[in-house]
Amino acid sequence: MSGRSTRAVHAGLPAPQDGEPFLPGPTFAAPYHLSGDASPRGYGRYENPTWTRWQEALAALEGGPALGFASGMAASTAVLQAFGGPVVLPNDTYGVVAKAASLTGADARFAPSDPAALLGAAAAGARVVWIETPTNPSLTVIDIEAFAREVHALGALLVVDGTLATPLSQQALSLGADVSVVSDSKAMTGHSDLVLGHVACRSEEHAAAIRSWRDATGAIPGPFEAWLAHRSLATLGVRLERQCANALAVARAVEARGLPVLYPGLPAHPGHAAAARQMGGLFGPVVSFTLESAGDADRFLAGCSLVAEATSFGGLHSSAERRARWGIEPVAEGFIRLSAGIEDADDLVADVLGALDAL
Ligand SMILES: *Cc1c(COP(=O)(O)O)cnc(C)c1O
Repeated sequence: MSGRSTRAVHAGLPAPQDGEPFLPGPTFAAPYHLSGDASPRGYGRYENPTWTRWQEALAALEGGPALGFASGMAASTAVLQAFGGPVVLPNDTYGVVAKAASLTGADARFAPSDPAALLGAAAAGARVVWIETPTNPSLTVIDIEAFAREVHALGALLVVDGTLATPLSQQALSLGADVSVVSDSKAMTGHSDLVLGHVACRSEEHAAAIRSWRDATGAIPGPFEAWLAHRSLATLGVRLERQCANALAVARAVEARGLPVLYPGLPAHPGHAAAARQMGGLFGPVVSFTLESAGDADRFLAGCSLVAEATSFGGLHSSAERRARWGIEPVAEGFIRLSAGIEDADDLVADVLGALDAL
């Protein structure tokens, strides 16, 4: 098997053919010509060749069949509804996933974000255990391989939301997860211009259940977005290498100022050993640190010139926000979530330190 960047560059491309492009353009179709018998290739909610190529590319990175969705939340909802509950989730999971788990009637049960507490909650008959690693925005890391064994011993399914890591860095399925859920609105596509998501499964049977949910609910990606996502996948390796190196440089600089900083790539992070085992040396683009107050956090953001104030993460432009402004996760008022882009590390670090110095 070739290296991960090689796979990302070539995944899902058709065999070379003279006069044809490397990646054929998007196919736009509601109905297709279809005579005679019924076929999925008759209507655009069931099948589209642009999705098929993107999904094959995702499957090559994930190591299991993949399905594209209109957003990361559509992908998450597909998993919550197709498998049902009870579902156990950590209380620091991405806030909107927590909300969807409650809305979908999946009998959501929340537990503290550590393996023992989650397994304790799951022992009461959970069908699904849902984790996120590292979590957005608290950057809690769970050892997927060890945790999967325990979840399976309880007879439950393990779902891993690996949005922050991406499957280039962390292969949840080969580490033992049954299902991998990823928001492709973040580093997977990386240009801050798409909202998409996907689900990948270890078994064909689970993938068929997810596909059937998508067919029936219509939470499908648009072909143009799917095509852009496939095109962006080729640069995932180089983008992530630069973003993770920049994130580590920022984390070290903020740590050297004596501020409380979270980054799985720092040896002092409680999840560093597990992250080092399962993230292939790419610890993610997100660094979180806590300033004194909401006022300090707002002044810090206003004081940055390179780092844009924006929500989301994983894009090639550095960005940051005061996360508590949304009020959906248990973080301090002065908590900053910063996402490192692909700028030069020295410029980025100077921007962040300059804004900190001005406080
Ligand atoms: C953004 C995000 C989602 C939701 O994805 P959308 O594409 O915004 O719908 C789910 N999980 C995590 C960890 C995320 O960061």
